[in-house]
Amino acid sequence: MNKQTLSFQAEVQQLLHLVTHALYSNREIFLRELISNASDASDKLRFEALADASLMEGGAPLAIRLSFDKAARTLTVSDNGIGMSEEEAVANLGTIAKSGTREFMAKLSGDQQHDAQLIGQFGVGFYSGFIVADRITVETRRAGRPAAEGVRWTSEGTGSFEVESIERAERGTDVILHLREDAAEYLDRWRLAGIVSKYSDHIALPIQMRKQRWDADKSEYVLEDEWETVNTASALWTRPKSEITEEQYHAFYRSISHDAEAPLAYSHNRVEGRSEYTQLLFVPSKAPFDLWNRERAAGVKLYVRRVFIMDEAQALLPAYLRFVRGVIDSNDLPLNVSRELLQESRDVKAIREGSTKRVLSMLEELAEQQTDKYAGFWREFGVVLKEGMGEDFANRERLAKLLRFASTLHDEGVSLQDYVARMKEGQKAIYVLTAETLPAAKASPQLEVFRRKGIEVLLLTDRVDEWMLSFLTEFDGKEIKSVAKGAVDLGELQDAEEKQRAEQAGEALKPVVERLKTALADKAKDVRVSSRLVESPACLVADEGEMSGHLARLLKQAGQLKADDAARVRPVLEINAEHALVQRLSRDEAHFDDLAHVLFDQAVLAEGGQLEDAAAYVRRVTALLS
Ligand code: ADP
Ligand code: MG
Repeated sequence: MNKQTLSFQAEVQQLLHLVTHALYSNREIFLRELISNASDASDKLRFEALADASLMEGGAPLAIRLSFDKAARTLTVSDNGIGMSEEEAVANLGTIAKSGTREFMAKLSGDQQHDAQLIGQFGVGFYSGFIVADRITVETRRAGRPAAEGVRWTSEGTGSFEVESIERAERGTDVILHLREDAAEYLDRWRLAGIVSKYSDHIALPIQMRKQRWDADKSEYVLEDEWETVNTASALWTRPKSEITEEQYHAFYRSISHDAEAPLAYSHNRVEGRSEYTQLLFVPSKAPFDLWNRERAAGVKLYVRRVFIMDEAQALLPAYLRFVRGVIDSNDLPLNVSRELLQESRDVKAIREGSTKRVLSMLEELAEQQTDKYAGFWREFGVVLKEGMGEDFANRERLAKLLRFASTLHDEGVSLQDYVARMKEGQKAIYVLTAETLPAAKASPQLEVFRRKGIEVLLLTDRVDEWMLSFLTEFDGKEIKSVAKGAVDLGELQDAEEKQRAEQAGEALKPVVERLKTALADKAKDVRVSSRLVESPACLVADEGEMSGHLARLLKQAGQLKADDAARVRPVLEINAEHALVQRLSRDEAHFDDLAHVLFDQAVLAEGGQLEDAAAYVRRVTALLS
């Protein structure tokens, strides 16, 4: 085929610009990216060769080679992996197939350090070569294709690239970087070996460079023909724990996660029994940018007897543990296991259960022994862990103990155990309140009586909380009750005198309550005298088993509740018999209707809701004030 010039997809051009600028201060990572691609290509070959052994072309063992030419100022990363056909080269090196690229680009802030970390996580890999090169040539041939089907791809990393066919005897890929003038440091064996050991030591393939020898005549180092392996090239997880240092674990974590920070915790085990496998699992310190996305790549790599099978093995851990990174190496699975087969395999089920338990133990240990670290973990990943309450029934009790909340006593870090230990004598239930924000929760009138009696209430302000509470109905034999639902029954916490006073007040207000019911028939399902209010004149509560106002608003925002249905969720209005405004109701005949509606609307505002007819509210308040 003749030489062809093609344009990069618009997104690639944008990305190229961002990558070369944002990563400039940490440009050595281009080598990690190219080595990781070479390693992926070898993994792919090994995997495809399971079905078609001829792809190995009987040839040399798989390896990655780094070579450089000082005179030509080129650095070459070579692999004898799967290679690319012409179509593949055009598609893989000219477009971005990955979903979420746009979303990723929107996250970039212009702050170099922050962006560099994001780009690292995202792995925009190949294009990072252009940070150090003003031209990249890729020569490649796909495994199994004839020598005439080689491809040369060239680009200066601006608007376009060229492709042409070439003869190429060797399977695999050479990525040739024509280094920029200011990137001559990468024409140095020590420098390259240093980067390899920093980022790529545990790539399970040998990474090789030519041996170097001092030539006294020329008085410089010269390269020999013999190749030498410069990385450890052993799968870390296969070595005994006792021989691995913490630093090595951390380096391994960095190499698989692209995370610059050390992990918060890790766990390395060989599991024996019905299903045999090795697990090396890490809990990161920081959440990746797309953690909220349940479809995001899972972080666990699956190996079978040291052969890499797949990344993103979602079947190996439940979705609510998608932040965990690591490796699982199975002894039992067949090498040709597919994603579909993974879903059904009994061995995978055993691995999944075992790994889930492992992660939970790791978290329990952190929570017990390193409270600060656990608090950090909770800030980053708590919301995701909460999903487990609805997803993982078998571990629900363990998960419940790992939950942390804000409460009326502390702004964060309250566990259910802490709460139970502090419960008042005679208190039967665990009380919770959901709201949009912590300040809104703290200001809620529903808390008044609990405050006065010194009863702690957990304050829940994450979007998943309402959903989670439908699964978290009791803890340690104690019912979990929303303070915004049903009539408050404080039981033994209320003394006889209080009960009697409330009854009398209710009796006295009966006619007012009846009239309120009629006046507010469109808005309130019921009206009753409250025992939960101290300072506020009124508040809204949901009936037992009905949707709270907070949940109705959430669903409406999410488009899951139509406006008509939302209107049909009518709350109960509770009034404070001792409040002056309420007492005025029985005296101020002329303004009864205005007072009634203002009372209701204020209760809506107090729980963070919005008025359906704000103008009417203003009119009524004005009338009352003048
Ligand atoms: P990623 O590795 O995350 O897919 P990259 O930008 O690093 O993204 O690489 C883009 C694609 O180019 C790879 O997915 C792969 O298909 C192809 N590619 C890159 N380098 C090689 C290589 N050495 N051998 C074969 N294919 C490669
Ligand atoms: Mg890559």
